[in-house]
Amino acid sequence: MKNLEDFDSLDWEKQQGLVPAVVQNHLSGKVLMLGYMDKAALAHTLASGKVTFFSRSKQRLWTKGETSGNTLDLVAIDSDCDNDSLLVQVIPNGPTCHLERESCWPDGEAHPFIDNLAKLIKSRKGQDAKSSYTAHLFERGTKRIAQKVGEEGLETALAAATHDKEELVNEASDLLYHLLVLLEDQDLSLEAITANLQERHGNTK
Ligand code: AMP
Ligand code: ZN
Ligand code: ZN
Ligand code: ZN
Repeated sequence: MKNLEDFDSLDWEKQQGLVPAVVQNHLSGKVLMLGYMDKAALAHTLASGKVTFFSRSKQRLWTKGETSGNTLDLVAIDSDCDNDSLLVQVIPNGPTCHLERESCWPDGEAHPFIDNLAKLIKSRKGQDAKSSYTAHLFERGTKRIAQKVGEEGLETALAAATHDKEELVNEASDLLYHLLVLLEDQDLSLEAITANLQERHGNTK
């Protein structure tokens, strides 16, 4: 882990002693909150491994979670290109926002493209099977969709086993797309999968 000297080039003066610190879930990439660190807050964060800010409202050092218990375990800190802000990667213990939400930005999504693709797939349900492959798959039903996932899974494995990276990217894309269709067919979503993985991660910590 870094220590305070690794941040010697931070431009404290430019930020009048308070550097903005963007907090990100190190696993999902989700942006959780924004806080401000003075030198003491950064030093405390590095030494304790618990993310600590200078609270402008409290006018003192504030360890996130000090009353709620929803602390942020430090994984990594980096300064940005021009040394006037910080990215703090964390493992959150509970919801980060004081409104009991995972993020202070409720709509921030870790994988916006995949989420939008899932929404598009959902919107194809019940549409004209002749105009859309996705609608066609939904019309064929669960068995066909499940079979496609099996096929694409096998093709993905084969591409990896034969060290064909380009093929692997293609087959993994096929697999992910058909998996999204299957989840939607079963009235499930990526959210359920993500929640399950996060729970497992928590359980094995
Ligand atoms: P906590 O640090 O979680 O014990 O919360 C203590 C107080 O800090 C809350 O009552 C809020 O006023 C404030 N607070 C907690 N989390 C946030 C956050 N993500 N952004 C801004 N203020 C917060
Ligand atoms: Zn900057
Ligand atoms: Zn909040
Ligand atoms: Zn394929």
